[in-house]
Amino acid sequence: MSAEFNLNNILRENIAKLKPYTSARDEYSGEGEVFLDANENPLGSATQHHHNRYPDPLQIDLKTEISKIKNVPVEQIFLGNGSDEAIDLVFRAFCNPGKDNVITVPPTYGMYQVLADINDVEVKQVSLTEDYQLDVDGILGAVTENTKVIFICTPNNPTGNSIKSEDIFKILDNFNGIVFVDEAYIDFTSAPSFTNELKNYPNLVVIQTFSKAWGLAAIRLGMAYASEEIIGIFNKVKFPYNISDVTQEAAMEAVKNVAKTEKMVKEVLAQRDVLENELKQLADVEKVYPTDANFLLVKIKEAHQKYNDLIAQKIIVRDRSKVLLCEDSLRITIGTAEENTRLINALKTL
Ligand SMILES: *Cc1c(COP(=O)(O)O)cnc(C)c1O
Repeated sequence: MSAEFNLNNILRENIAKLKPYTSARDEYSGEGEVFLDANENPLGSATQHHHNRYPDPLQIDLKTEISKIKNVPVEQIFLGNGSDEAIDLVFRAFCNPGKDNVITVPPTYGMYQVLADINDVEVKQVSLTEDYQLDVDGILGAVTENTKVIFICTPNNPTGNSIKSEDIFKILDNFNGIVFVDEAYIDFTSAPSFTNELKNYPNLVVIQTFSKAWGLAAIRLGMAYASEEIIGIFNKVKFPYNISDVTQEAAMEAVKNVAKTEKMVKEVLAQRDVLENELKQLADVEKVYPTDANFLLVKIKEAHQKYNDLIAQKIIVRDRSKVLLCEDSLRITIGTAEENTRLINALKTL
């Protein structure tokens, strides 16, 4: 337990003082029937579907369903326009531009750096070890009094492996800022979620997303889980209606049919085994890294050239060959059986 963590010590002063926007619907209590308070169109919409009323700003119905699936209280759930919104909110709420810093552990998800740059926040990089695990001493040694957040991604993108949980606990136990655990790929593993640890760590923020396993990248919906206090800050800083009713309805349909997602995940994992075996038989493939996600990091001769040759055959993978510790590697998302076969056949000709 990080005994010294005090949210008020790390919150930006302007956010602590912020008086949030109150929407029309926040300002009354009781049951309404005639809504003349929000300048909406009373006649309907310019489409066949009705979207003329502002959506629930706190998405309570949807969070109630997510709460049941994830076993996290509604008050400890934040929904964002993609989980990237939650990453941005951490910067906006806790990091003073030009003064504070965060720690990332590359190779990792690129948006931590981009959002740090947008928010004018310094990033201290402590690279992963050769076997893609945390350099715990290096990370804790890099912490300064202005370090507000440490970002850890597990399973990690682009390497695919899970980070040892005992190492994440060491960071949680020894750092008094926010420990941000990105679980975008958690649905592809049997590893327990760090949401189970929220009651023990008031400095923990966990994110997950509907974009990967749930197959809903287009609706833009991600979740953050944290203490009620931190979620309260996110709600205060976010745009009032950050999740559209179209998104809330699509997600509602998904969470009421968890079996469909589970079935798709099984199929992706089965295809992952097939693709991994096929890749390992190719002469130019030097290594297929162990993965707990829906992609494979593959070390392959002439990676950058192969990337371009695949594009010429209209097959797009991710070139990671210039990324630290991923030299000569491509990141390949698991496709359908047909797509994977097409990839393998293409690689055989290169
Ligand atoms: C895909 C991804 C996300 C988030 O995506 P959203 O679509 O914004 O929810 C977050 N972290 C990692 C590591 C990812 O790969």
